[in-house]
Amino acid sequence: MIVMKFGGSSVADAERIRHVAEIVKTQVSRKPVLVLSAMGDTTDHLLEAADEALMNGTVSIDRIKELHLKTMKDLQLSAEVQKNIVPLLDELSQLLAGISLIRELTPRTKDYLVSFGERLSVRIAAAYFNGLGLKAQGFDAWDAGFVSDSNFGSAELVKESWDLIPQKLIPLTDAGALPVVTGFIARDAEGNITTLGRGGSDLSATTIAAACKAEEAQVWKDVDGILTADPRIVKNAKPVGTVTYEEASELAYYGAQVLHPRAMQPCIKTGTPVLVKNSYNPEAPGTRIISAFEKRTIPVRAITSRKNVTLIDIVSTRMLGQYGFLEEVFAAFARYHLSVDMVATSEVSISLTLDTAQDLDALKKDLSKIAKVDIRTGKAIVTIIGDVRRSSEILARAFRTCELIGVPVQMVSQGASKVNISFIVDDTEAAETVRALHMDFFESLKLPDGQQAPFRSKS
Ligand code: ASP
Ligand code: MG
Repeated sequence: MIVMKFGGSSVADAERIRHVAEIVKTQVSRKPVLVLSAMGDTTDHLLEAADEALMNGTVSIDRIKELHLKTMKDLQLSAEVQKNIVPLLDELSQLLAGISLIRELTPRTKDYLVSFGERLSVRIAAAYFNGLGLKAQGFDAWDAGFVSDSNFGSAELVKESWDLIPQKLIPLTDAGALPVVTGFIARDAEGNITTLGRGGSDLSATTIAAACKAEEAQVWKDVDGILTADPRIVKNAKPVGTVTYEEASELAYYGAQVLHPRAMQPCIKTGTPVLVKNSYNPEAPGTRIISAFEKRTIPVRAITSRKNVTLIDIVSTRMLGQYGFLEEVFAAFARYHLSVDMVATSEVSISLTLDTAQDLDALKKDLSKIAKVDIRTGKAIVTIIGDVRRSSEILARAFRTCELIGVPVQMVSQGASKVNISFIVDDTEAAETVRALHMDFFESLKLPDGQQAPFRSKS
């Protein structure tokens, strides 16, 4: 069995849904289970409709209604199918009317509200696939075994789901049926509808794949997979063929928003491969995310950067041979709920980074009591995701490159995750640094045995 997940842009209209059917047809022999998101930006539109009901007391579902009715018409679905969809749209109107009357939107009601996106898309797509002879059967997630806790807005699936999901789905795929399941949503023990957090349908798909011990989880997006760098910065960015779960998590955190780290968790548990594919370019091989490599040929997988970072240097001779100093420093950050990203320490100093958005005046005042504090904004983190067993080689080449382009490196840290080497440069120099590193690690001549070419000379 395999799981195929299609996101909002892959099912945005009738044409895209037809295209999905073509892709699914090529995989039927592998017994697919489909997971779908809401069509296009429907989830956002639902949230906007809720805001309007709440703020202005108005009920407007025109945009949502039009998209779904038009899609059904374009797909030439029967009146029978309409009979399934219209009541859902009516229920949605009533819910919004309720919100507009009581002018209150609890987290529970909000989850109920956004669930309509996936419930509508799955019914329409399943009906269409069925008409093509694919033996499709649409499921709301709870009918496919998804039971969650009651943490509305970011619910977690309960343990029983791991048994219920395969019990429900495997007999169907074994019998040649094509289950089409709503992503993103679940139901708690009391029967309230919950959601797994924005972008949660990836997690629905990886959960099914892991729970059913599927051969792989395919996540169909609108990009060619995970790229070696942000294509807006590096023209020659290329899709990465294979990465480990660890590398993909680091990449997601550092700005390559391809797959949420949480979405990989179920497959990490079971070692199920996750394949990121482009529904707009199905021929492209995509990126395969796996647990470990047998043999590495190249040292670096990808290079990313994150701007708007603040660098804080804390220097105190009190630190020498003392204990408890770091605790005091981190307690100050905790007091102001500031989340620290990178950290590097020496005998007498500690440097760390934060996202710039926060107000640091109070923190500075506190820390100044115990150390000399220097706060610098306008920094960027450049991260190299690669094989840290080869960190000496990676660092040597990275520093050499920075030296060649005249960019001073202001702080360095190598995470214990063994895949991440990060350093700080000025915001204004981040793009140039990424481009230069990309050129060195990915665009230079490769020697036949997979070794990288030697350093370019300075001339
Ligand atoms: N439709 C939901 C969202 O937009 C879930 C998803 O697409 O994964 O967040
Ligand atoms: Mg979406």
